[in-house]
This record gives sequence, structure tokens and C-alpha cells, in this order.
Amino acid sequence: MITATRQVPHATPTKSADHTRIRLLIHGGAGAILREKLALDREQAHRRALTDSLHAGHTVLAAGGSSIDAVIAAIVTMEDSPLFNAGKGSVFNHEGRNEMDASIMDGDSRMAGAVAGVTTVRNPIRAAHAVMTQSKHVLLIGAGAERFATEQGLEISDPGYFYTQHRWKQLQQAIASEQIMLDHDADAESAASDNHEKHGTVGAVALDCFGNLAAGTSTGGLTNKRYGRIGDSPIIGAGTYADNRSVAVSATGVGEMFIRTAAAFHTAAQVRLLGTPIDQAAAHTLTEIAAIGGEGGLIVLDPQGRYAMRFSTGGMYRGTIGYDGIAWTGIFTDN
Ligand code: ASP
Repeated sequence: MITATRQVPHATPTKSADHTRIRLLIHGGAGAILREKLALDREQAHRRALTDSLHAGHTVLAAGGSSIDAVIAAIVTMEDSPLFNAGKGSVFNHEGRNEMDASIMDGDSRMAGAVAGVTTVRNPIRAAHAVMTQSKHVLLIGAGAERFATEQGLEISDPGYFYTQHRWKQLQQAIASEQIMLDHDADAESAASDNHEKHGTVGAVALDCFGNLAAGTSTGGLTNKRYGRIGDSPIIGAGTYADNRSVAVSATGVGEMFIRTAAAFHTAAQVRLLGTPIDQAAAHTLTEIAAIGGEGGLIVLDPQGRYAMRFSTGGMYRGTIGYDGIAWTGIFTDN
């Protein structure tokens, strides 16, 4: 078993607790989510699922728990929901398998962990956390990551557990539209434009009562992905980043562009090195992503509890909760 202790983190030794500063932000993916296209029952189901996730994380924070534990609680709730593209309900790759990626980062110590291409770990975010706390490494992939998760006593599920009919249908559509797209048929556009279903990655950023930040992201990736494709979600600095000296960030969108712009780190670096207000930093990152043809969204939180939820797509499933325990959710540009 890989249990060697990681390098000694530079954690701040003692900090006083202030329960009024707790804050949690979550996202459940960004895409062409338009009010007129989303059925009311689906909208309500998503809002309920987001609210459950917010309450799960809030319970941890309100009890004096760490931002890392709050991020895990919030993400596990969404991984267990079939509505999001993470854990159960993950999208299928070209071969009809669910290959999942996740990462987590602690803003105090800047320790991080991630897994990629796992097919049997029920909650990939827990595996990412185990990599952070129980190994010397940051990123484990595929069969090795699964062996590690098993050795750590994490719950392993039969691949059938992750199946949802809805995602299976999407794969068939994606395979079909890819062929159509090659033929430059106009029908391809309508099938491809249904991308609100393809970006359902989940993420959370949290600030605990000690003033520590954490960030995490979990995904099934992109429908119809091939050749062991890995996106930004398990890449520290691309899909996830946390540093108490700046911000915690979780991203969603077309992963390739988020990797190429080091999106999460890019956002944090603007805040830390230039003193850019967080909303502007997030907006600038999305501009950089747009400049290379990408789109998506970011949730950003700083140690003072200031936050931003920015997206360049039609909508983003998102929510936040603070000390008062009142969950706020948003989906569309006008909430
Ligand atoms: N960023 C994810 C990926 O590229 C997808 C998403 O956010 O929905 O794998």
C-alpha cells in the first residue's frame, strides 16, 4: 500500500475560528442551458440537487469542519445524483464506458490530489482526496488509481452502477452527429448544440471558519471522448486550484482550452500577483479561453468570502450558501 507521508505542508499553525465567514460555492456544469429549452421539472430537479449539495457542504462548515471536507461532501452529493456528469450519471466515452476524473486542492498547504480515467470508483473525489492525503503523488490514472482506491478502502462499484439511459442516448446521438458532421450535414448542428447535456461536470469551492480555502472538481468528461482523453478537471491549475493567498477555483467547460490557458491558476495568479478583483479575473480567464475557441464557467472564492460565478455559455448550474444557511441556486443568465 502507498501510504508514505507527503512532503510537509506549509500549513498555518493556528487560526481563530469565525463561523460567520463560512462560504460554499458549487457548479454542476455549464453549457447552452436556456430557460426555453429546459423543461420545468428538469429545472426543479436540478435546483433540488444543487440545494442538497449546498446543504451537505454547509453542514460540514457550520459544524466547524474544514473546507476540504465541505468540498468533498458537496461533490459526493452531486456525484451520487444521476443528473450531473460525475460519478453516477457520467457521460460515456466512445467505447461505451464511463471514465471519470477528479481533483482536489487545499488552499492552506497547497497539497493536491487527483485521479483520471477511473471506471469503478464510486466517488472519484474521495479517491482524489486519498491521493492527496495518503500518497506521495498528485495524479494517479486508470487501473493504478483504481488499485490505490481499493487499497484505501474506498467504495468500488460495478461499472453498471454509473449507467443512465439518458447518457447512453446522448452517446448514440454524439456518435451519429460525428458522422453527420464529417459529412457537413446541417442536422449535425442541432444534435451538437445540445451541449448543455455534455457539460455537467461538478465542482465546489469552500471557505471554512478558520479562513482556509479548498477547491474540487469531478467529471465524466466529454461524451464520445476517445483514446484515453483527459480534460482539465483532474489537472491542478487547469480545472482546480486553491491558494489561501488568492482564491479557490473550480472550472467547467471544454477541457482542452482550460488546460491550454491554465484556467484555474490563471485566475488565481491575476488575483495574487496583480490584485485583480476576482470577478474581473474570472472574466479575463474566460476571455482568454474564448480567444482560443473555448467556453465554460468558473466559480471563484477568496479568503474574505468574496466570490464570483462566471460563465461564457448560455447557463451554468450553480449555487452558494453562507453562514445563514440559506441556499441560493442559479441556472440561467438571469438566475
Ligand atoms: N471540463 C470537463 C472536461 O473537459 C467537461 C465539463 O466541464 O463538462 O472533461
